[in-house]
Amino acid sequence: MKSIKYCFLILLILMAYQGYSQKDSVKVFPDSSKVMNDLFFLASDSLEGRETNTAGNAIARKYIVNRLQKLGVSAYVPDYIQSFIFGKDSIPGENILGFIEGFTGKNYIVVSAHYDHVGMEDSTKIFNGADDNASGTVALLALAEHFRANQPDNNILFAFFDAEEKGLQGAKYFMQSVVVDTNRIKMNVNLDMVSRGDKNEIYAVGTYFTPYLKPMLKDAAEDKSIKLLFGRDEPKKKPNWVNSSDHAPFHNAKIPFVYFGVDDHADYHKITDTPDKVNPDFYLEAIRLIKDAIENFDANLGDIVYGK
Ligand SMILES: [Zn+2]
Repeated sequence: MKSIKYCFLILLILMAYQGYSQKDSVKVFPDSSKVMNDLFFLASDSLEGRETNTAGNAIARKYIVNRLQKLGVSAYVPDYIQSFIFGKDSIPGENILGFIEGFTGKNYIVVSAHYDHVGMEDSTKIFNGADDNASGTVALLALAEHFRANQPDNNILFAFFDAEEKGLQGAKYFMQSVVVDTNRIKMNVNLDMVSRGDKNEIYAVGTYFTPYLKPMLKDAAEDKSIKLLFGRDEPKKKPNWVNSSDHAPFHNAKIPFVYFGVDDHADYHKITDTPDKVNPDFYLEAIRLIKDAIENFDANLGDIVYGK
């Protein structure tokens, strides 16, 4: 009788230990060294500012596609690439579209960031675009990794848009293309400049149009060490960021959107927007906040309606 009790006790201890060690091995999100390595690579001089239709832009694209493949994120279009042509000079651009199927598999959240930047000047000055928008691009990769391991309820389409700096061309093309029924896109979460913690603040823009989102954002920010601010979306108030990045074509189609971004800083669109200026603590916390917000949107997507 005694030995059975002992066996039971040992079993309990073993189970508790196993549970503990499993919990202990839960990965911290996001992987900080991976994030910073990605950021320093995409914003390095060798990519020459990632301007659309340049060799540096193609290197960035190849890097992103390679990462999506390794993460096991599905290609939403063949080879992940959605090609388009824009402008009077018929410039080619290429969006990258990765896809994670949700449990219910019907509606979509489009999580977007532009991977292009403004390139070079006088063939000597390189605009690295670390914050604008290597930061959003890398955050998207981290989010894709998270949702690959933690299946969402709804489909998530990860859109790495090209030619944002040429007038939101990639996002505009995406919305007019037929790759996805826009009636099934219930939300856009756009990331553009999310890494500069100069003021320890990040904005969530768009709740003026869909106030229902606000409590979900506040909830995501509650336990974070950075400050989440609202605004920059009210008519007649300046600055106004409603049309400032790739969320604009979604907004124009009356799709609820949240745009995450920091305030303009002294290095915005300057050759000094380099990765060493990024505060990793702020950046990683911003990615965690955005991840939690997307999880809240995913859990409530059926109730999110533009204008409510
Ligand atoms: Zn940008």
